[in-house]
Amino acid sequence: MNVDTLINNSKPFLEYVLSWEAELPELLLKDIIEYPSSAAIVSVDVINGFCYEGALASPRVHAIINPIVDLFKQAHATGVDNIILMQDSHDADAMEFGAYPPHCVRGTAEVESVPEFQELDFYSDMVVIQKNSISSTVDTEFIKWLDNRPEVTTFIVVGDCTDLCTYQLAMGIHLRGTARNIRQRVILPADCVATYDMSVAAAKEFGAVPHDGDLLHHIFLYSMMLNGVEVVKTLK
Ligand SMILES: [Zn+2]
Repeated sequence: MNVDTLINNSKPFLEYVLSWEAELPELLLKDIIEYPSSAAIVSVDVINGFCYEGALASPRVHAIINPIVDLFKQAHATGVDNIILMQDSHDADAMEFGAYPPHCVRGTAEVESVPEFQELDFYSDMVVIQKNSISSTVDTEFIKWLDNRPEVTTFIVVGDCTDLCTYQLAMGIHLRGTARNIRQRVILPADCVATYDMSVAAAKEFGAVPHDGDLLHHIFLYSMMLNGVEVVKTLK
């Protein structure tokens, strides 16, 4: 198949995806939270290494910091104190560096939460959990955290990258619930999620793998919806 045929054949679908996204509902925290301890916000990889410095830092990802901070503040004011920060933290010779350039090596500033999080007066109440792959639910302490809190049935997922760690996190929570027949909601506010962009030209220059930030963001938001995650425009 050549690219023109693919684009032409897929155009109605892509138009559908964009109109679906444009019409996503806005939800209110007070309407989705039954009681504060029944809800958790799980943020993934909102750390310096994806927002400010290092091989994988991206301005697109930096742009979701403030919307997430606003969501944290509103949720905290509503009484939600389950805020989990899933964070990349790799050994210098991590296997993951076969697929991505070295990033977020333990002991560097890249693995730290962004300063905007650390400045929050309830930052010390947040639970930081490290991960060594793009999954938050394979071999991490988050599984234990979930097992110990059966009362948490509303999960709000935010962070980066839409098609990588965010997708794995939302699907990991959702599939765990499905496999166990747990009645739960996994809600993903699209304004608190982003992925990076690496154009074909830039990738050739840097010897990297191209990554279309717009296309992959939209397709993976849609894919999460298709799989049972509640994608919404924003959560106030
Ligand atoms: Zn990583």
